[in-house]
Amino acid sequence: MNIHEYQAKQLLKKFGVRVPEGRLVEEGSDPKDIPARAEKAAQDLAKSQGNAVWVVKAQIHAGGRGKAGGVKVCKDLSGVKAAAGEIIGKTLVTPQTGAHGKKVHKVWIEEGSDIAREFYLGVVIDRALSQVVMMASTEGGMEIEEVAAKSPEKIIKVAIDPTLGFMPFHGRKLAKALELSPEQTKEAIGFFKNIYRCFIEADCSLIEINPLILTRKGNLVALDAKFNFDDNALFRHPEIVEMRDLQEENPQDIEASKYDLAYIALDGTIGCLVNGAGLAMSTMDIIKLHGGEPANFLDVGGSASKEKVAHAFKIILKDPHVKAILINIFGGIMKCDVIAEGVIEAARDLALQVPLVVRLEGTNVDRGKQILASSGLKITPADDLTDAAKKVVAAATKNFNRS
Ligand code: GDP
Ligand code: MN
Repeated sequence: MNIHEYQAKQLLKKFGVRVPEGRLVEEGSDPKDIPARAEKAAQDLAKSQGNAVWVVKAQIHAGGRGKAGGVKVCKDLSGVKAAAGEIIGKTLVTPQTGAHGKKVHKVWIEEGSDIAREFYLGVVIDRALSQVVMMASTEGGMEIEEVAAKSPEKIIKVAIDPTLGFMPFHGRKLAKALELSPEQTKEAIGFFKNIYRCFIEADCSLIEINPLILTRKGNLVALDAKFNFDDNALFRHPEIVEMRDLQEENPQDIEASKYDLAYIALDGTIGCLVNGAGLAMSTMDIIKLHGGEPANFLDVGGSASKEKVAHAFKIILKDPHVKAILINIFGGIMKCDVIAEGVIEAARDLALQVPLVVRLEGTNVDRGKQILASSGLKITPADDLTDAAKKVVAAATKNFNRS
């Protein structure tokens, strides 16, 4: 799960990490009053912080906003009004949004920071080491992937033993890499330690502070923040789940997570409904082997109900690129007749138009096949995986040429 920058900063603040103060301005029902609300927020902020410079930042679940015009430094209130009015409603295209870009629905208005130096700080889990790794680089503000490719020696890493936690020597090593003074090093050790504590206690899978800045006064401040959380641990953080912004997520993904389905949208034309992740992957492989492209990965799980199958089927059909669907079920715990009933229910509800190829095998297979055959739906049965893949690729190609 992802959160917005302003939410990430609120979380960091709770763990004692220094962040700029700010105010949120949302799109609201009347876009015409955005500039007025932004002005009020900026005035309110100045009253509490005494700042004379503001930064208006687009809040979307993607980085690279600066270069796309989503971050504006403003020296007066009229600048804040104009920036907020311009950025909200705008579609930002950045290297992380994909070609369609992301529409901005809210901005974070922040006190301006007096930047002396910009750094990069990242925390991830290194699977090979089975440890949390914190990394820092003097090349802040830039894309870290680029730094990693061109000058990997400029990224300094420390691995943190989970039983010992973050130790002062970790902090000294990172601070030295950032060429901090002895006094700044002392502050940095506390800063890094708090970030590590946040990473562990909030069950993060990634924290990225880019840039981490040193102000002219000599303070370290997290000027940007990106978080990813371990979805499997979200159940113990209701306050983090509350930060989820459904507007930022793909509608099919939201539907899938509602019904606890493992769904990943892909670019192809063949929808796949499969039980078991391994079978789902080999189904995608064999579709590709026979010249087709899967439109999704979808594992309905080992013990799906009729309703769950019906929802899965509807999610596939919502993708306008789908030209044919392959249902590939090996019924072990899952029963073939349950699958057949779910498919029929969804197909009737949605007045199914695309060709459907079904390969069923396993528990109650005869009953399943019988239910499908007597449903009146146009279904092409298949005997094995190869037969199913050939038939669905042919059906998708034919349907694609027609539409
Ligand atoms: P991103 O482009 O989506 O990663 O957004 P960032 O939050 O990292 O902002 C991009 C850049 O804007 C930063 O690297 C800074 O150089 C600049 N920036 C952001 N806030 C301030 C600020 O308060 N003062 C100044 N001078 N620059 C800022
Ligand atoms: Mn950034």
